[in-house]
Amino acid sequence: MTTYNFAAGPAILPAPVLQEAQENLVTFPGSGMSLLEMSHRSKPVQDMIQAAEDDVRALAGIPENYHILFLQGGASLQFSMVPMNLLTPGGKADHLITGSFANLAFKDAQKVGDVRVAGSSENTNYDRIPTPDDLNLDPDADYVHFTGNNTIYGTEWHVDPVVGNVPLVADLSSNIFSKPIDVSKYGLIYAGAQKNLGAAGVTLVLLRDDLLSRSPDSLPLMLNYNTHAKGHSAYNTPPVFSIYIMGLVVKYILKQGGLEKIGTQNADKARLLYNQLDSSEFFRGHAMQGSRSLMNVTFNLPSPELESKFTSDATSEGLVELKGHRSVGGIRASIYNAFPKKGVEALVSFMGEFERTNG
Ligand code: PLP
Repeated sequence: MTTYNFAAGPAILPAPVLQEAQENLVTFPGSGMSLLEMSHRSKPVQDMIQAAEDDVRALAGIPENYHILFLQGGASLQFSMVPMNLLTPGGKADHLITGSFANLAFKDAQKVGDVRVAGSSENTNYDRIPTPDDLNLDPDADYVHFTGNNTIYGTEWHVDPVVGNVPLVADLSSNIFSKPIDVSKYGLIYAGAQKNLGAAGVTLVLLRDDLLSRSPDSLPLMLNYNTHAKGHSAYNTPPVFSIYIMGLVVKYILKQGGLEKIGTQNADKARLLYNQLDSSEFFRGHAMQGSRSLMNVTFNLPSPELESKFTSDATSEGLVELKGHRSVGGIRASIYNAFPKKGVEALVSFMGEFERTNG
């Protein structure tokens, strides 16, 4: 039986990436040693990190005035690093609250400086993305922070907030490189690797060069973006193996045809699932039309008991990790870049059968 892994992260990786990593685990080509054993100052490791950076730049067409950083601490550390580095003395920032991680980012930023909510979908239980009319943005803000895809609630910004000249900061942990992106529209992007980009342990940060001048010297070195930009992501020992896996994933996406291609595939997969939800009274999608995530499809059944039966029957059929996040319950199917269309088709067919026998 084939296992289809619908986990929200750490999540499915492309099989050829895992195979290549396995083949090269004991001896990294040309070096006679494992990557896990080598100094981060050695040439093979430095070359590997540079290659990963070059491939990330090529994949997303990242302009030269953006730094590509491989950091640790997860996306969660960026919740505080962003305000520590980007808030100016006496300055303030706007946050758009569209779900759990957006809330966590806001709460950590509040501990650092003057931030406020400039838009929220809390009053409808985060079932939508605010419209431009719902936003109350401060044109003098130091930056606007938003969460591109809300992993837990299953909503996604399909059009970014319009923020004029204010730098846009995006947490793209759960939809980075799932579709074409114009990086030049952002001041800073961050994403934990363990959904669309690879293994846990590394966080990708894309940062516009001019923003580096904002970081105060008083910051501890590890919390200052300048340290990592100057040190080319190797100021201290970086998570070498996780960077390697990210490099392989990015190279794999490039070989598959890049972001246009992956974007079409992702839209196609999500459409299959949403069509199934829309054609049924039994399944109820959480996200409003127009705000639906192409990465995390969330829905409910008529009762928690049926939801529990659904996930356990699905597991017996090889459809695993469909339980919704512990904070919201229900069902969540995460269908990131590496998730195959065949797996979505299997879920759709299982849903039809489950409704027929339990509806
Ligand atoms: N932001 C979003 C949108 C996420 O989905 C997650 C994790 O699921 C995080 C932040 C936190 O990431 P990490 O576990 O890398 O700190």
